Amino acid sequence: MSVEKTTPGNIDEKLSTIKYKPDEKSHLSVINQDKCKDCNKACTFFCPARVYEWDESQQTLIIKYENCLECGACRIGCINQNINWEYPNGGFGVIFKNS
Ligand code: SF4
Ligand code: SF4
Repeated sequence: MSVEKTTPGNIDEKLSTIKYKPDEKSHLSVINQDKCKDCNKACTFFCPARVYEWDESQQTLIIKYENCLECGACRIGCINQNINWEYPNGGFGVIFKNS
């Protein structure tokens, strides 16, 4: 059995093939930005779509909700339960091939 080698390069290529229909309003939000300041920023690692990015100069968590794959990992992965996650409004969000 052959195992496909995954490198950051080809993850980016795969992510770039996914289609989205982003809503104007984010379906993701941080409940308390102050909690993020003292956190290990786990969300910037576990999110497969790199939705979360820590802005050191602004001391703010940036949320690129348009890239969300709707995997739900951030609902359980944030150690401070500091992410408010909902499905995007109907018709918006990620478009998977067979849906
Ligand atoms: S894991 Fe949660 S608390 Fe930590 S930076 Fe991310 S959203 Fe903020
Ligand atoms: S649901 Fe998944 S893809 Fe979307 S922000 Fe959370 S971890 Fe990232």
